[in-house]
Amino acid sequence: DASDSDELPKAKDKLLGGLLAAGFDENSCLSRYQSALYYKELSGKPSSYLISRLRKYEVQHKECGPYTESYNKTVEQLRSGQFTDSSTCKYVVWISLSGLGNRILTLASAFLYALLTNRVLLVDPGVDMVDLFCEPFPDTSWFLPADFPLNAQFNNFSQKSDQCYGKLLKNKSATNSTVSSFVYLHILHDYDDHDKLFFCDEEQHFLQKVPCLMMKSDNYFVPSLFLMPSFEQELNDLFPNKETVFHFLGRYLLHPTNSVWGLVNRYYQAYLAKVDERVGIQIRVFDTDPGPFQHVLDQILACTLKEKLLPGVNHQQDTINSSEIPKTKAVLMTSLNSGYFEKVRDMFWEYPTVTGEVVGVYQPSHEGYQQTQKQMHNQKAWAEMYLLSLTDVLVTSSWSTFGYVAQGLGGLKPWILYKPENRTAPDPPCRRAMSMEPCFHAPPFYDCKAKRGTDTGDLVPYVRHCEDMSWGLKLV
Ligand code: GDP
Repeated sequence: DASDSDELPKAKDKLLGGLLAAGFDENSCLSRYQSALYYKELSGKPSSYLISRLRKYEVQHKECGPYTESYNKTVEQLRSGQFTDSSTCKYVVWISLSGLGNRILTLASAFLYALLTNRVLLVDPGVDMVDLFCEPFPDTSWFLPADFPLNAQFNNFSQKSDQCYGKLLKNKSATNSTVSSFVYLHILHDYDDHDKLFFCDEEQHFLQKVPCLMMKSDNYFVPSLFLMPSFEQELNDLFPNKETVFHFLGRYLLHPTNSVWGLVNRYYQAYLAKVDERVGIQIRVFDTDPGPFQHVLDQILACTLKEKLLPGVNHQQDTINSSEIPKTKAVLMTSLNSGYFEKVRDMFWEYPTVTGEVVGVYQPSHEGYQQTQKQMHNQKAWAEMYLLSLTDVLVTSSWSTFGYVAQGLGGLKPWILYKPENRTAPDPPCRRAMSMEPCFHAPPFYDCKAKRGTDTGDLVPYVRHCEDMSWGLKLV
């Protein structure tokens, strides 16, 4: 409400109930403490155990981070290929790949895995990670230095690599006697049954001893970690409310850099700050043809009208005579295409709403197509995910990690637009999400104990099949 948003950030809980560490230089990353100005409160309270675990992790990261004694020792081992000293810190290295939404989800997944296994997370800066994200841990860096000895191999890591975990298992060379200095984990959508054994407790024993785990992933694999008995207790203590995993980890880890924060800030102040309600609509169309499509527009309008997220318009009347000051809504649309936004905006300009509300419709960019390697493109994509997360009511598209990031950061249960089949608007057009968690699109369906296939969406009440992808898994 209005009184709330007028407060200065320092009057609010800028450390998010202890989730964020104090003591960072505020100017180097304005978003870290200013985000509390725009967000509503966290959705739920982080557990005191999560908070203490994060503080412990920060100490560990500082001790093990780039160019510390331990890091240097590990680099030495990687250079020589000889693994001798098991007393040093252990690492999981996140390798940058895929669209930004996917990257954000895998970063959070890799960080949780690092917490669970007492490893330190190092982030391959790729081409633009440094431009997008601030340092999350105090007095150290999470970015992998440019002289890390394996950097040149990142592109070549694949299921065919000798160090690939699945391949090691296939060749039965992953035995305790042959601990190597690093292992490559292939947790991409195309991973095979051997790679998937990563999610079995038994196989984790071998990985425990490996100093460096190099990880490529394009999936939010957290739900499957919740199915591993060895992590069960710890996860329960960290996240008594399971649907808050990405919400808390995302808000802890992911702070837009000052340039991205500028994009967020200016847009929010100009178009979103002064209205009674903000509605986010994220449109992602997975079609070879760029569109716009009539059936997608129909679906957006059907969903927002049916679920009463936006008022209908009166085509018969030119104006509604009322002496009251109308309620205002701002609709923030995001899409690679500007077609949907133009139609919705025009509709609310050309006709009055049946409720008398006034609706402004805004779309920050229309980049046309995915341009993963372009700097400003991804800065805008990040700013748009963030802006969507600041809305009060959110509509997202099926299958899109871009939407998952927005809902998770915002702590929002979105209305998900069903994926259209045969270019027709589905009926019903959308449904409310069960939880704010992202969906794991490529989970294993394997019972590690029984060593046979099983429906992993049917084992525990808190891991369910997703609303938008029947074979996916999500925490609820
Ligand atoms: P997903 O493919 O929907 O799961 O999301 P990703 O974020 O992983 O990949 C899609 C990429 O396409 C994004 O990272 C952006 O680069 C681009 N993109 C998709 N939708 C939008 C949008 O609405 N706005 C902007 N600026 N970029 C988008």
